Amino acid sequence: MGAPGLVAETVWNKMESTRSVTEDQLSILHFLFGKNMERATRIVDQRGVKRISGEPSGRFVFQVVGESRRLEEYLCFPERYCACYSFFYDIVSRGDQLFCKHQLAARLGAALGVCINVKVSDEQLAELLAKL
Ligand SMILES: [Zn+2]
Repeated sequence: MGAPGLVAETVWNKMESTRSVTEDQLSILHFLFGKNMERATRIVDQRGVKRISGEPSGRFVFQVVGESRRLEEYLCFPERYCACYSFFYDIVSRGDQLFCKHQLAARLGAALGVCINVKVSDEQLAELLAKL
């Protein structure tokens, strides 16, 4: 993770501890992530972030809706993986962005505590992850 990642990490941590976001924090995130951050904000506004956690392990994954069609949902680990096309094309292949909008939305939703919490069994969680 480079310097932008570290700056972002500091901002996320601050937001997580206060469960709120300031104008300054949002400006920094917009500066770092540009359009993707605006898209992520819209997704969070629509309550488009689910946090699916397995019982009893407590392991979890995020499921984030796409922006255009609400039926699209992507499994997503905010720091390292998203199942969407943009993650592979813009981030893994071209390396010109750090995170896709779903990862940012998951991070933002989690930091602000506005995720929809879904509990499933560990078996169900494993089945979900096996589709990745
Ligand atoms: Zn994505």
